[in-house]
Amino acid sequence: MTSRFSRSLQALACLSLLTAGTTLSAQTAPLVERPTRAAAQLPPGPLGYSAAHMDRTVSPRVDFYAFATGNWLNNLEIPDAETDIGGFSMLKATIKHQLLSLTLQASVSGAAKGSPEQQVGDFYRAAMNTARLDQLGLEPLKPALAAATAATTPADLARHSAQQLIDGGGPLLVAWPITDARDSTRRVLMLVAGGTQLEQNQYTDAASQRIRDLYRAYITRMMQQAGESPEQAAAHARTILAIETELSAPRLTPLQSRDPALTYNVMTVEQAQALLPTVDLGELLGQLGYKAIDRLQVTDIEGIRSLNKVLQTRSREDVQVFLRWLTLSGNARLLGQPWFGMAEDYERQRDQLVRAEPREEQVVNAIAMQLFHPLSRLYVKTYFSDATRRDVSSMVAQIRSEFEVRLRANPWLDEPTRQQALEKLQRMDIQVGYPKDSDWIDFSGVDIRPDDHLGNNQRIAAFRFRRDRDRLNQPVQPDRFSNPPYTTPVSVNAAYSPPSNSIDITAAILQPPFYTPGGDKAVNYCTIGAVIGHELTHGFDSNGRLYDAAGNVKDWWTPAANAEFGKRTQLLVEQFNQYSVLPGLVQSGRLTLTENTADLGGITLAHAALNRALKGKQTPRVDGLTTDQRCFVAWAQLWTFKARTERIRYLAANDFHALGFLRGFGPLRNLDAFHKAFGTRPGDPMWLAPAQRARIW
Ligand SMILES: [Zn+2]
Repeated sequence: MTSRFSRSLQALACLSLLTAGTTLSAQTAPLVERPTRAAAQLPPGPLGYSAAHMDRTVSPRVDFYAFATGNWLNNLEIPDAETDIGGFSMLKATIKHQLLSLTLQASVSGAAKGSPEQQVGDFYRAAMNTARLDQLGLEPLKPALAAATAATTPADLARHSAQQLIDGGGPLLVAWPITDARDSTRRVLMLVAGGTQLEQNQYTDAASQRIRDLYRAYITRMMQQAGESPEQAAAHARTILAIETELSAPRLTPLQSRDPALTYNVMTVEQAQALLPTVDLGELLGQLGYKAIDRLQVTDIEGIRSLNKVLQTRSREDVQVFLRWLTLSGNARLLGQPWFGMAEDYERQRDQLVRAEPREEQVVNAIAMQLFHPLSRLYVKTYFSDATRRDVSSMVAQIRSEFEVRLRANPWLDEPTRQQALEKLQRMDIQVGYPKDSDWIDFSGVDIRPDDHLGNNQRIAAFRFRRDRDRLNQPVQPDRFSNPPYTTPVSVNAAYSPPSNSIDITAAILQPPFYTPGGDKAVNYCTIGAVIGHELTHGFDSNGRLYDAAGNVKDWWTPAANAEFGKRTQLLVEQFNQYSVLPGLVQSGRLTLTENTADLGGITLAHAALNRALKGKQTPRVDGLTTDQRCFVAWAQLWTFKARTERIRYLAANDFHALGFLRGFGPLRNLDAFHKAFGTRPGDPMWLAPAQRARIW
């Protein structure tokens, strides 16, 4: 699956993550050979909380983030092949090296066919066999390119799209089952337009001109390499960019795309066909193997209309060029040189990287995307302990019970809404580390060969496609820890899913800086405890609250409670609207509201649970800091973050999370305990008048 495609699935699955932030390059594997040794540089430690990270020359009342993280920030350098650095990315780097070591062992294990070791090992060997990939050149893609060039009728377009969808390439149209937002016991087939490769804002923002220029140059190089003259390739690149801009403009924005009121457009196949007469939907569904479909969810009606308009008004040649581009770009990273090198080079420039990641690390990222459960099984066996799973599970119980206490005592919820909220919290299914035995996805039937990189990727894509297709009409059993690259056991993350009212806390995140076995309570509560609280309160943020305890979109709020919630969250919107992320660019409080609500909820619950665990008594000072002070410093250090300009611009426009350097102090300003711990006073930059503090959960 392309990352564009998984992004749309993720938005529609409404997952609320702890962090987003994986770019296209994360799942790719460049073909440039680089020595393994040079790659094995681990980031500087220590990764966990440390008083040495603080800069005590700064007053916490003036700039709390600099006070808590300043020394660390000053010493951190963004690695050449990364877009940013901070606790998250440093832990990711550590895990990547652990995964590389497991993968190298697997590649020489001679394990039985279908075992996780064989699949991971042979995937790696095929991906690293660059001589063979170079030798094959464009040959493996030629049938698909020929089909693109010959596509003229609505049935041709349907067949091309179906094949790209099954193979995991670049489909014009995506049809995929998702949980029915109004009946979480069944699924509905989602239909959504594909075909764009930049973010919506990047097609139009003045600041994104650099990216558009790079993208157009990339298309030109690829088309020329595929046999076009320089003039023809340049003209086609202009056409392709124009088509993508036309497709993108009318689509829902990232924020709109997770609003069930806008996306729940369930209709018959005939109604959907009327929106898109240029693609034969009967043929599409038939090619995909769907029988007797009686309804479709067209998640973005204007998006489908704009695809239809492009197909209707553009010349046959333009459409064929566009299909060739989708085929080529959707698969380039699985080919030999020069194809992969061109894709890699474009991404490197787009992301402002000094160099691309070493090949073997990119292959490991690709394995984590494609064979996410086989690789995760190897990982948890070696690197994840039962003791951690037990300890964190008991912390989950404590934070959940703290939330329950607070819901019962909540001053602004009325009784009917309170009862519904309590039921929702009580029914939340929370899993720690990795899925239950029966919930691991069984990849063993997928034929992974040591000499067929493109084929391995296509067979995995086809396996995932058929598995989901065949479950369309089965009772819903949500997949757990199975949303790469965001939430699998090897992803540094945690996620709440409204349709299943469930939380996954990955094995990978259960280590410093998030969790230290036997560590200082003040630190563990206000890091991993706050992460748990963050995910719990996602069920009650402005998106999660639209779903009831059973995971159905249903309004369970009284008008009074609804108005109170709106008033309180509006304070957060206004606060974050004030924060600057780059000169002339501010954070959008509206875009980041759900995550800021969860951050505030998370640290509030964690701090309260910490004080309950200590029975209200502060532990002795450590490093000259009280328990509460260490709690808040540890929280800020969790969000230590430094990024390249393009990365900040990208996140500010598209990420539901505020920038890390705002998460480090923004939510804290709403806590009375924070002001008490550091003695802030009116007039201090960190001061927020009590009436302006958002008190939600
Ligand atoms: Zn979140």
